[in-house]
Formats: sequence, structure tokens, C-alpha cells
Amino acid sequence: MMVYSRQKIDNSDIEAVVEALRSDMLTCGERVVEFERGLCELTGAKFAVAMNSATSALHAAYIALGVSQNDEVITTPITFAATANAALMCGAKIKFADVLLNGNINPASIKELISDKTKVITAVDFGGMPVDMDAIKALIKGQDIKIIDDASHALGSSINGKMVGTLADATIFSFHAIKPITTFEGGALLTNNEEIAKSARLTRSHGMVKKQAWNMDMVALGYNYRLSDVACALGSSQLKRLDEFISRRDEIARIYDEAFSGSKHLKTITIPSNMRSARHLYPVLLGEHLWCAKEDIFNELHARGIGVQVHYKPTYQFSFYKALYGEQRLSGAEDFYRAELSLPCHQMMSDDDAKFVIANLSELLEIYTSKSVCG
Ligand SMILES: *Cc1c(COP(=O)(O)O)cnc(C)c1O
Repeated sequence: MMVYSRQKIDNSDIEAVVEALRSDMLTCGERVVEFERGLCELTGAKFAVAMNSATSALHAAYIALGVSQNDEVITTPITFAATANAALMCGAKIKFADVLLNGNINPASIKELISDKTKVITAVDFGGMPVDMDAIKALIKGQDIKIIDDASHALGSSINGKMVGTLADATIFSFHAIKPITTFEGGALLTNNEEIAKSARLTRSHGMVKKQAWNMDMVALGYNYRLSDVACALGSSQLKRLDEFISRRDEIARIYDEAFSGSKHLKTITIPSNMRSARHLYPVLLGEHLWCAKEDIFNELHARGIGVQVHYKPTYQFSFYKALYGEQRLSGAEDFYRAELSLPCHQMMSDDDAKFVIANLSELLEIYTSKSVCG
């Protein structure tokens, strides 16, 4: 199966992991610090705190920004559940804002949801395309509202030459196996704010600080969200090739862009020239006449060895969220969910793989259009 995204592991990664395995410190050692330094160098952020998942890093970010009961967090429903879940872990109420046609949160919709209880706005760089943070910052000018950038898709992305990682109060990356680089499982919180970084370090390791000799103090309620030295060795090794990975994904994306430009059956999402996208996903939006055939197209592509996926079922549609907040429908998010299909786009693909996807999808789009099964 040609999956929609996957890792690329080479001998240098394997050697880095083996070397870490043979060392004295499997965790809490120098390799963690080195990986964090690499993330800072890449993005220009002052502080990086590596953790065992993006979910942990999101939780640590909400804690660092003081999110608690009676606070509201505004976020997008077109994301992985963890974006909102981690705020629920702090007791916050989630307000879902609608999305734009490119899958990113819609600032106009955020504006309607801001109240005197709003504590944090969490945006997601969907597929790797940077969110327009300036538009969000303009909305909250003069108010005590913080921004988290869930950049789980966007390591290496930039806008107007500024790297994702420095555009919000805290930025979260994921190093899950299929994300832009991997540490098996893993994540990080990046920030320019020393207090946020300090808080995240406490959350990461039981809220404990060393005093002297054996004497530790526990100054906050923390967790074990640490990432091992073995994982960080893989992360540093992968980081060296991030540029190569993105360039290859970008080449695949451009083959798709060209093949589908002017298509009557689907729209692609163009990355504006002032942005670079990590291209974690290559989303296409099926025309409305194909929405009811999406499941058939999905199944037929899988039968042909093409592992497309759908990103995402809106978070508010999960039964857990319905039980909390009742039925919700945001028209932009609903349409996006009906239309979206993520095509295989990763650094292990050949041009011929991309052409195989194009040929098969194009054929199916014609077949299901002529069947005109959708009303
Ligand atoms: C993958 C992902 C997460 C969770 O990442 P983990 O490292 O698996 O915890 C959170 N948000 C988004 C947008 C993601 O894509």
C-alpha cells in the first residue's frame, strides 16, 4: 500500500540510534539537549523542550499559559483530536471556530467567539501551510489572550521568511512516525518566553527541581513526558535531512498541482509564494458533485494500493464532544470534511508513484461523475 505519509529511515539514522543505545545515558542525557538545540537552530526559537509526544507538549503548553477551569480555548475542529483534548485536560471549555477553504482556522470566525473568558487561541498549520498569525494577533491586540501554534504538520514551514516555531507564544511539533521527521513517538514545545519553557520543563518531569545532593523539591504537579536520548539521537539525525525530505515532498506535490490544475472534479490547495510548506499532507477537495461518492472512491483507491486518508472528521462530531457540548455544525468545517482527501505525498515516493495516483484518481473521478450518484 502506498500510504499517505511515512518515515524515511537510512543507515545514518540507524547508526545514530545504535550509538545512543551503547552509551551510558539512555534518557535525561546530552542527546536530548543536542536535539533541542537543533530545533532552536532550525527555527530561531530561543527555547525548545522535547517531550514524548505532541499531545504531551500541547498539555504542557496549556498548563504553561495558565489554562484552567472557567477558561475558554478557541481552536479549529479540522485537526487531530489532541489539539482540543489537551485543553480539556486543563479543565477548559473548547469553542470551535470555522475553517477557511485551505483548512486553516478562519480569523473572522475566531472574532465571533472571543469573550472575556478566552485564554488561548490554538491554530493548526493544516498539512504544513502556515496559519496567518498576523491576522489572529490583530484580533487580540491589547487583550490578555495567548496563541498556541499546533505545528504538528509544519516542522520546516515558513511564512515571509519566518520559520514556524517563533510565530506564537508556544509552538508544538510532533515527531510521530509519519510526521515531517520522526523520533518514533515524540514532540516538542518551542517558545521565546523563558517562563513558558521553565513551566514546560517542570511539567515534563514531575514538577521536580533539584536542590542539593539528594534533596529534591516538587514545586508543581508534573508528569513524565520525557523523550529518551535514543529517540533524540534519531531526531537529531533526521533533522539533518529535513530539508531533503521537504524538497522531495514538494516535488511530488508539484506533480499533483500540475496534473490537477484546471480539474473540473477537484481543487488543490495552492501554497502561496510567500510560504514554504513542510507538505505533511497533500489535500485535495473533491467537487460537490462527488461528495456522496467519496467513500466509494476512497475504497476503490485502497483496493488499487493507494492509501488515501481523510483529514479530519471535525472534533465536535466525536461522541465524547457531543456528550459535552451537544450537536454543532460549522459550515466551512462540514464542507471541508465532505470534500477533503489526502493523497500519498512522502519522501519515499517516485515520480511514477505520483503518476500512478494521478491516473487512478482521474479515472475514478470521471467514472463517479458520469454515474452522477450524488443527487
Ligand atoms: C499528530 C498530531 C497531534 C498529536 O501528535 P502526537 O505526537 O501523536 O501526540 C496533534 N495535533 C496535530 C495537528 C497532529 O497532526
